[in-house]
Amino acid sequence: MPSATTREVAVLGATGSIGASALDVIARHPARLRASVLAAGRNVEALLALCHTHRPRHAVIAEASAFPALRAGLQDAGLDTQAHCGEAALDALVAGDACDTVIAAIVGAAGLASTLAAARAGKRLLLANKESLVLAGELLTAAARSGGARIVPIDSEHNAIFQCLATARADAGNPDGARARAGLRRIFLTASGGPFRGRSREQLREVTPAQAVAHPKWSMGPKISVDSATLMNKGLEVIEAHHLFGLPGADIGVLVHPQSLVHSLVEFVDGSTLAQLGLPDMRTALAVGLGWPERIESGVAGLDLLAHGRLEFEPPDLEAFPCLRLAFAALAAGGTAPALLNAANEVAVSAFLQGRIGFLSIPALVEDTLAALPAAAADSLDTLLAADAHARRHAEAWIAAGHAGPRMSAQP
Ligand code: NAD
Ligand code: MG
Repeated sequence: MPSATTREVAVLGATGSIGASALDVIARHPARLRASVLAAGRNVEALLALCHTHRPRHAVIAEASAFPALRAGLQDAGLDTQAHCGEAALDALVAGDACDTVIAAIVGAAGLASTLAAARAGKRLLLANKESLVLAGELLTAAARSGGARIVPIDSEHNAIFQCLATARADAGNPDGARARAGLRRIFLTASGGPFRGRSREQLREVTPAQAVAHPKWSMGPKISVDSATLMNKGLEVIEAHHLFGLPGADIGVLVHPQSLVHSLVEFVDGSTLAQLGLPDMRTALAVGLGWPERIESGVAGLDLLAHGRLEFEPPDLEAFPCLRLAFAALAAGGTAPALLNAANEVAVSAFLQGRIGFLSIPALVEDTLAALPAAAADSLDTLLAADAHARRHAEAWIAAGHAGPRMSAQP
């Protein structure tokens, strides 16, 4: 039976890759962790199966047309789980007393509202939804500070930095002043390089969605897998790191590290560099967030460095993978530029996965959107959401106008 100290965890994006890893860790600790809220986009069957296994108090489906099937499925199975539908219901559950911990693992800007709700309500916020930080990083970190929320990053790189900073006694969950307290000089995010590492720009022209989502080291959802293949994922992570750790872009380096065993590095003013290592399995980062400051079992084996032998590092190829350069530029431009970058990228990735545009059209579309829509001051959530919507309209029009060239021959 759960004890008085049991953490009540809301898993947003429960049917996804991070959701599965999170539920695996939670199920290993029935006395201290309980999945109290499970939320998903539209896959009712998968959500019902998770409700069977994890018996949450609440289940939320975003898609309204899927709600009757969720309610009927829970009733037929004789479960006490209450069915809910839509973003407002999710935000209310996240902010209310159904949970004290929120795993924000919805993909894309669709996760912003619930992530903000968790921050404002002062929850422990295990933040996987990097797009919400890229879109509204200042608002989100300010909401976490004023709401008293502790953010634990659930991106392997940022989780690594969080762990390295914690050893320097900095309050890494709170971006305010963390750099000064830690004597931090700069950080290095590692990147696997994705499935197309080493290819020239010309060799990327005909790659297919199936090739792009076949990541060599990590098993992830389709959107982040394509982002890893274009290196936009690393670009989003640079912006994410800026918001989490209070560093300018100039102090954030990127190292391609094909083995994906060193998850990131932190350099201090005394010349020390600390790194966090481990197998590429998101359950480690999730266990750090769920157990913090204690260490709990994650199901991930320790690292046998002798079995791996080599750790290699190389610079990223910005000519073949311009998305990383575009993200640095958007961070430097500031204001709404990162929101424009993120929205254009979401449209481009979705179109690529549908076989509507080719791989090289992803950076082309993002670059065109940034050039066409100059950044404004990001003074409110409304301004950011308007920029997001504007970039999506621009990107869809760019595709409709045929700028991406003829439809790809390669299908997903
Ligand atoms: P995924 O595609 O496997 O899962 C996405 C989840 O979001 C699904 O449960 C889906 O139902 C849900 N969802 C989508 N739209 C929704 C909506 N409108 N409302 C509610 N739920 C919705 O993706 P993933 O790989 O698990 O990634 C999730 C997030 O975590 C992304 O932001 C990604 O960048 C980040 N992340 C993932 C990994 C990883 O290893 N998979 C690593 C680091 C960060
Ligand atoms: Mg990452």
